[in-house]
Amino acid sequence: MQYLPVCLRLQDAPVVLVGGGTVATRKARLLLRAGANVTVVAPEISAELEQLLADHGGVWQQSRYRETDLHGKKLAVAATPERATNKQIYQHAMALSLPVNVVDAPELCSFIFPSIIDRDPLLIAITSSGKSPVLARILRRKIEATIPTAYGRLADFAGRFRQLVKDSIPRATPRRLFWEQAMEGTLAEQVLAGREQQAEAQLRERLREREQDTRALHGGEVYLIGAGPGDPDLMTFKAARLLQSADVVLYDRLVSPVIVEMARRDAQRIYVGKKRADHTVAQTDINQLLLELAQQGKRVVRLKGGDPFIFGRGGEEIELLAKHRIPFQVVPGITAANGAACYAGIPLTHRDYAQSVRFVAGYLKGNKVEHDWSEFQSTTETLVFYMGLVGLPVICEQLQAHAGRSPDTPVALVERGTLLEQRVLLGTLATMADVVERERPTAPTLIIVGDVVRLHTDLSWFGES
Ligand code: SAH
Repeated sequence: MQYLPVCLRLQDAPVVLVGGGTVATRKARLLLRAGANVTVVAPEISAELEQLLADHGGVWQQSRYRETDLHGKKLAVAATPERATNKQIYQHAMALSLPVNVVDAPELCSFIFPSIIDRDPLLIAITSSGKSPVLARILRRKIEATIPTAYGRLADFAGRFRQLVKDSIPRATPRRLFWEQAMEGTLAEQVLAGREQQAEAQLRERLREREQDTRALHGGEVYLIGAGPGDPDLMTFKAARLLQSADVVLYDRLVSPVIVEMARRDAQRIYVGKKRADHTVAQTDINQLLLELAQQGKRVVRLKGGDPFIFGRGGEEIELLAKHRIPFQVVPGITAANGAACYAGIPLTHRDYAQSVRFVAGYLKGNKVEHDWSEFQSTTETLVFYMGLVGLPVICEQLQAHAGRSPDTPVALVERGTLLEQRVLLGTLATMADVVERERPTAPTLIIVGDVVRLHTDLSWFGES
């Protein structure tokens, strides 16, 4: 992070703005909206700026800039057309430890103005850290369109009852849950629709109800969430929403750091990554940990790569919870086979080539991959092997020896599917082991076997054209 977004209270604060053109006018409008006591220093100013100052009690000091103009001020903004003057203002401000912004010159700024979505008192600020204001503005437009203007009223409403709710629910976690339900449910809808009295009655009623509701006081909950194969955009809305409600997040190796970051800032994050071949002990520990955290009344999110029920041992994790009557939800995710195949341009069941697809565990037990290989004879079935990198030579060999698959059967190995570093290696049952030996892909990888692999098209995802 190059900047820390903070919200500055400027009510009645003396602020100096040097410059009187269009850009200065824009900044003046913002500063005045925040209640600042603005002094504009410039030999000339636009008629619009003059009017703005007159309307909001700002002052125009008709002169060129001098160092003393900064004295006694809390903030300085420079918007003159002269580079040398701007630089001087920056240097003087730095010497006085005064926060300073020189418009359109990031290197001369100790703070920058973000793009703002104003639903006062609710404010959303977006910045590209000075890299692309246009991108920030595009994003602002998108967000702007999705947030009703009445959200400001909702924030005001919450503000009015903040103390009351705090007094009724002294503990922070249940209080947060209470507000989360209130801000997303019918109560919020009432406020947005302008029926604040009804909303208030509802809020008071709920506070009364929850005094009798022991579950709300003690109950933890567990969400077993499929985080998808890697690309964070492949999470479901439900996954993202529940993740943001978590007090504790347990995640493992396959979950992208970006996804783990989506949890609340103060949520506890626990890494429970497992090493290959060292499963059993760790798994019972995880099951136990989930149970204990929930029993402490926490909202626990267990993030799993892909889908929790596809080679994810999700079933085992919820068994113990069910036994102890801990409420839980399972949120499906896009499994690696779906994600990797789509991003690699391999339609797993293209009707000309395959009528079924099978997800197969490809790990070695001893030196073998344990399967009845005769089950894999059908040439119209696509096979997708998970956890098969180490066992790949054995898999290719067995498919030829015991499933009667032709040595020419196409094989694709997708390395780090759906991530920016995704790589697709192509070969056949006869050649793939050598390809892997040469290219040395790293986990996670997925092996796709069958004629559909011929359809692999290089979609050139990441856009060098
Ligand atoms: N529950 C997960 C699978 C867990 S098993 C899911 O539904 O996807 C772990 C295996 O998944 C890895 O060994 C690898 O074969 C596969 N895998 C997971 N993420 C992958 C990715 N981004 N690219 C390729 N394979 C992946």
